[in-house]
Amino acid sequence: MKTYGRLMCALALMAAAAITFTACATTANAQTKQTGAKKKVVVVWSEGTAPKKVYPNDINGAIADALKADLKGWEVVTASINDPEQGLPDALLNRCDVIMWWGHKKHDLVKDELVAKIVKRVKEGGMGFIGLHSTHFAKVNKALMGDACSWGDYKGDSTTVDITVKDATHPIAKGVKDFQIVQNERYKEPYAVPTPEAVPFEGVYTLRGGAKDPVMRMGLCWHAGKGKCFYFQAGHETNPTFFDNNVKKIMANAVQWADPASN
Ligand code: ZN
Repeated sequence: MKTYGRLMCALALMAAAAITFTACATTANAQTKQTGAKKKVVVVWSEGTAPKKVYPNDINGAIADALKADLKGWEVVTASINDPEQGLPDALLNRCDVIMWWGHKKHDLVKDELVAKIVKRVKEGGMGFIGLHSTHFAKVNKALMGDACSWGDYKGDSTTVDITVKDATHPIAKGVKDFQIVQNERYKEPYAVPTPEAVPFEGVYTLRGGAKDPVMRMGLCWHAGKGKCFYFQAGHETNPTFFDNNVKKIMANAVQWADPASN
């Protein structure tokens, strides 16, 4: 009986192992099918400091919704500094084609090791990088630009900004006409960055009382190594900038422009 019992026990273990193996194989097949579609990947990263009454799902959530509605053949992933590995584990970063970044209060908390990995993915791997508004001072933006990335001044005295399309032939301006958005914070030139390869958008702020700020650069393009970089100046967290249809179009266009396959 003892031998029989051991045999039955062994058979039961083998059956359990077979079920487990089948389950694993099924999961693996599903993953293969998903990756088999070879969707491009855009990661929209933000730090979770935007006011909930303006951005209930933070800025990355708002942008991700816009991208999902517009981009075909793209997997849109949201990531946050509050997620494990600050939202960008190697497995995600290494399959990411374009990263969009909105940071403001937590620049210093982003780990230098992560910044180095992102810069390497852009410069050597060709990943696109899109920096939004206060991201100008993000460690990763400064590292990619190799410059101070400071604006001449920062004033909370504006009512609106008129954004003009300076180069209608630029892919990021496709389908975008001049438009106006509410924007209660303005950055002033000069922006301390290398000379951009293209400036598809400029802007003029209207101040409370009606005066105008001189023309400034609103959308700027560079290469950093093999990767493309785009910076968009508007996007203050107390204004619903990323719900504007024109801005949503610019975000979707920028992702496709920064796609390494478009180089
Ligand atoms: Zn701001």
